[in-house]
Amino acid sequence: MSTASALRNFVCTQCGKCCRIPGYVRVSESDISRIAACMDLDTDTFIAKHTRLMADRSGLSLLEEKDGVCAHLTDDGICGIHAAKPEQCTGFPYTWRYPNMESICEGWKI
Ligand code: SF4
Ligand code: SF4
Repeated sequence: MSTASALRNFVCTQCGKCCRIPGYVRVSESDISRIAACMDLDTDTFIAKHTRLMADRSGLSLLEEKDGVCAHLTDDGICGIHAAKPEQCTGFPYTWRYPNMESICEGWKI
């Protein structure tokens, strides 16, 4: 199947595997406003408690656990802020992909 065809047919199975890949989950100003409201926090509190400055100081990223898993992934393996999740998350796999995703992403395999 071509990549274009795979993208047209892609359905996320919410397996949560992409949320377990170590790396930044960048949050824009609009992401921050939306997620803070979803968590019933003001934006300053959300930034202080749930984000960190990226190493190149180009922006903020959501915090992760020590093993690299996104801090918002629940024990059930689903996104705890699904309705408000960052554009980086909603854009996958349409606007970006990670190496070897074909063997990791359950939705892509289907
Ligand atoms: S915000 Fe949600 S969708 Fe994005 S990486 Fe974290 S758990 Fe996954
Ligand atoms: S790895 Fe793929 S199928 Fe699993 S949650 Fe992420 S986008 Fe959805």
